[in-house]
Amino acid sequence: MAGTTRKLSADYLVVGAGAVGMAFVDSLLEESEATVVMVDRRHAAGGHWLGAYPFVRLHQPSRYYGVNSTPLGGEERQVDGPEAGLYERAGVAEICAYYDRVMRERLLASGRVRFFPQCEHTGDRRFVSRLSGETFEVEVRRRIVDTGFLAPAIPAESPPRFEVDPAAWCVTPSQLASLDRHPDGYVVIGAGKTAIDVCLWLLEGGVDPDAIRWIKPREAWLLNRRFFQPGELVGDLLEGLARQMEAAAAATSAEDLFVRLEAAEQLRRVDPEVRPTMLRGATVSDWEIERLRRIRGVHRLGHVRRLERDRIVLEGGSVPTAPGELHVHCTAGGLVQPPPVPIFDGDRIALQPIRLGLAPFAAAITAFVEIHRSDDRERNRLCPPTPSPNTDLDWARATLNGMRADHAWSQEPDILGWLDRARLNPGSGLAARAGEPQVQDAMRRFVEHVRPGLGRLAEIAG
Ligand SMILES: Cc1cc2nc3c(=O)[nH]c(=O)nc-3n(C[C@H](O)[C@H](O)[C@H](O)COP(=O)(O)OP(=O)(O)OC[C@H]3O[C@@H](n4cnc5c(N)ncnc54)[C@H](O)[C@@H]3O)c2cc1C
Repeated sequence: MAGTTRKLSADYLVVGAGAVGMAFVDSLLEESEATVVMVDRRHAAGGHWLGAYPFVRLHQPSRYYGVNSTPLGGEERQVDGPEAGLYERAGVAEICAYYDRVMRERLLASGRVRFFPQCEHTGDRRFVSRLSGETFEVEVRRRIVDTGFLAPAIPAESPPRFEVDPAAWCVTPSQLASLDRHPDGYVVIGAGKTAIDVCLWLLEGGVDPDAIRWIKPREAWLLNRRFFQPGELVGDLLEGLARQMEAAAAATSAEDLFVRLEAAEQLRRVDPEVRPTMLRGATVSDWEIERLRRIRGVHRLGHVRRLERDRIVLEGGSVPTAPGELHVHCTAGGLVQPPPVPIFDGDRIALQPIRLGLAPFAAAITAFVEIHRSDDRERNRLCPPTPSPNTDLDWARATLNGMRADHAWSQEPDILGWLDRARLNPGSGLAARAGEPQVQDAMRRFVEHVRPGLGRLAEIAG
């Protein structure tokens, strides 16, 4: 009811029930008797996935996404299709259903979590229902947990970063999936993961590659999915890390480092003629690269400034278009993160990535450290924030930071034990496979090159 304030109390107030908030609370329940109030302005748990375009899938295996306690899907390896042999990747419908189930059957069923959807946290431990106007005030016994640091901006909720003439036809990827007439051609605007998804989806839907034009302000380095496999394929994960450290140890410059990483099959790029400067951590398979190369109409004139009826004005010039051409806006910021702050700070926890690209994992280990360590300085030593990368050099810094955290964890027996059983850790179960020849070989090379490799990365990353 508007005008009244309901008082609540809990150990933690968690703002955001996206992937990060869910993984944190799940881990907190596992490690403690804590009680939690969760708030989200959306109608359910799942965060940005609830607003995502219908053809998006995880770009990493489901097996290490979600929350620690509950598998996402069958966690099987694919038996057919272009990625046969690799672990399956959930689509958005499965991900949303998963978070709904985890909320009901795990978090709420624990009796220690209360969830308030459709509520806006207004700061100062207060939130207000967007439906009834009722105001809530929470007495927080331990901490407020802010998940906003990692929240990605998505096209469905972010206007294009350019002017659009009303006579031009411009849609979001979500709207693309419900067209009622087919366009004369497509112009995909953006160079990130969303644009890649849109291009692949159009090609899969039978669109002629020559009917697609792609506006790419930058070229991206993409991580090779084959080396980000868990479970039975964890030897490949270790092989990838060994190759990365070999490449880093031998690198003579930043440019040479990325040439070596590509030669070692760790990085991929769509256009072999263009040196990428962007690296945001998206993973791809070689079949996707091969398909994307069929699109030959690529414009590299910087960012779009204005979309007019008959032309597209970019930073470096303009290209023609027409009212019958459909422009797909893939220019939301994605994972753009403010400068890092300490994760543990007084009465707050600001959840941030620790290892590159593993947001739910970072949230889960942060909850473990919150419960099993008593001093914030020690907690922050074990959980150094790692900003999501934007450029190739950011990736070098993030890798360095993540490996330093790994080293710190390797000195702590309880954390090592947690890492080996945590499903959100891609390397979990490695100990049981330590006798496999591939694992032994990769481990030997990793150990040999990790010190010089990290030393060179530190020099290169400045
Ligand atoms: C298309 C796409 C695909 C991706 N694929 C992968 C992948 O395969 N693997 C991977 O690891 N990562 C992937 N990511 C990255 C992904 O964003 C993170 O893994 C993670 O899902 C981010 O979750 P989050 O909880 O930080 O953010 P969100 O999902 O945005 O959740 C934050 C929540 O907080 C709520 N909130 C914020 N402020 C307030 C407030 N004041 N009051 C109330 N509620 C508030 C929001 O409503 C939101 O629901 C992908 C991202 C995108 C956009």
